[in-house]
Amino acid sequence: MTNELQRYYSDLREKNRRALEKRIAECEQKNRRFRSLADEPGLVFKQLAAGKLTPAAAKSRIGAIGAERRNLLISMGLPGNYLDPIYTCPRCRDTGEVGEPARLCACALKKLQEQMIAGSRINPRETFAAFRESIYPDDEQKKQGLAMKRFCERYVASLPAPEKPNLLILGAAGLGKSFFGNAIASAAIEKGVPAVKTTAYQCVQAILDGIDAREDAIAPFLSAPVLVLDDVGTEAMVPNVTVETFFRILNERAAAALPTVLISNLNKDELFERYGERVASRMIDGALTSVILLRGDNLRTRIR
Ligand SMILES: [Zn+2]
Repeated sequence: MTNELQRYYSDLREKNRRALEKRIAECEQKNRRFRSLADEPGLVFKQLAAGKLTPAAAKSRIGAIGAERRNLLISMGLPGNYLDPIYTCPRCRDTGEVGEPARLCACALKKLQEQMIAGSRINPRETFAAFRESIYPDDEQKKQGLAMKRFCERYVASLPAPEKPNLLILGAAGLGKSFFGNAIASAAIEKGVPAVKTTAYQCVQAILDGIDAREDAIAPFLSAPVLVLDDVGTEAMVPNVTVETFFRILNERAAAALPTVLISNLNKDELFERYGERVASRMIDGALTSVILLRGDNLRTRIR
């Protein structure tokens, strides 16, 4: 988890703790019995520690204290759980992590999406609904575009666990590859599967910034339920960083069967040349990856 995210959750817990304190003070002011009820569990534990109460008796006393408090609250027209801890996200109890071993909670991924890729958010205009076949210059490219759209929509429909988790979209610049990357990420989020979309450039930059700030910035790329990595091949080739980062992302996401979409202007040979056998063979691994090669004329010159 990034430092920024950790700060977000500690601030959130602090905010909710203060809100609860305010509720407690407000209740104690209305009814003095709340104050003694707040002290009683401590007395019970003291008696338990001193051997004056059996564990069963202590448990039943604690239960009775809770029940009395609930009844008091209800009699005051408040919810029975009004004085329970307040959590903005009950799933992770505002820690940002769930499960064992710990994974980022959906709320943390959403937060990351907002924080981490502020400069590269999903382009909200590029969705399946906004797809226009009229941008294609000829029938062949139109057919290819429509087939691509259908394929990507099926892929999204099968999220969060497609049979082949990964997509590798290759082709020259200006064939609408990024459009489909955006559309996949938007549609995934719409169906409730958190997606992170970023460029390879920004991914490597985030890792480098993380090294400077002494934080592990790779976590969101490893644990995003869907990762769309655009412009693979345009990032800086930093020794001991770029290739290692991609290897970890591909390897750990494959191990967790997490869907990953890679988009690149490079062809297969160029991927091998740039990233080496170890990484490139994972990018095109036929057991895990559907490779799509888009052909045709640059569309950007046609969009008015
Ligand atoms: Zn959460």
